[in-house]
Amino acid sequence: MLKTRKKLLLYFFAALITISSAGGYFYMEEETSEYEKAISRIEYQLGYSEVYSAKNSKTAKEVQTVSSDSKTVYLTFDDGPSPRTLEILDILKEYNIKATFFVLSDEKESSKEIVKKIYDEGHAIGVHSASHNYETIYKSVDHFLKDFEICFEYIKDIIGEAPGIFRFPGGSVNSYNKDICKELTDEMIRRGFTYFDWNVSSDDAVKGYTEESIYNNVINGCKKHSTSVVLMHDSSPKKATVAALKRIIPELIEQGYTFDRLDESAQPTIFRID
Ligand SMILES: [Zn+2]
Repeated sequence: MLKTRKKLLLYFFAALITISSAGGYFYMEEETSEYEKAISRIEYQLGYSEVYSAKNSKTAKEVQTVSSDSKTVYLTFDDGPSPRTLEILDILKEYNIKATFFVLSDEKESSKEIVKKIYDEGHAIGVHSASHNYETIYKSVDHFLKDFEICFEYIKDIIGEAPGIFRFPGGSVNSYNKDICKELTDEMIRRGFTYFDWNVSSDDAVKGYTEESIYNNVINGCKKHSTSVVLMHDSSPKKATVAALKRIIPELIEQGYTFDRLDESAQPTIFRID
């Protein structure tokens, strides 16, 4: 008897909770709109093609806590492939060093061969861009993803592997994307991609650069970090970068640095979004 009464009492409270929470859903204006927002967010995400999601999904937190070795230099080259890429590959081979190339999806056969060569020689390849047009790609998350997908598929077709890392043109936070950078970086992490900015810039894209300025920027920059991600460029005009690299590598070796290529397990060097 007591048991039944207890049960009844439980049912009563359960019903009371159900009614009050239902009331909350139906009558509390704020909760309804939050719910609608969540639904529209999900629909928004489902609208994207999932074919170019990276295979290893990681949450933002996991990405941030991966550990790293000390005194490691990650040389990274953006905006190739070009004839400069081949020269850089030769230098890297001479010192038996691995590096990372964030490429543009140039459709020329000779460019595709260079991308294949980068891969065959054991370097890392990441997505950079198809158009490299800041004004277009940073109009919206959708605009960015459309451009990204072209370059992603391009690399995948050539090397037979889905690239899991990328670099935002101009870095993850720049004057073109400040309105969407939080939404954009969240979306790319949600898809399982890892992006890398840099903490040492060779400034070989800054007006007036010389072989000497590139050399000094990299050597002095690496002194400030135990793990350096160095931004350089391997587009066609960057002859000074190639010349500087010939001096940078032996100097850093002499100073005890080791070199590595970036992958999803490297600690991402990323710009802060404020
Ligand atoms: Zn670039």
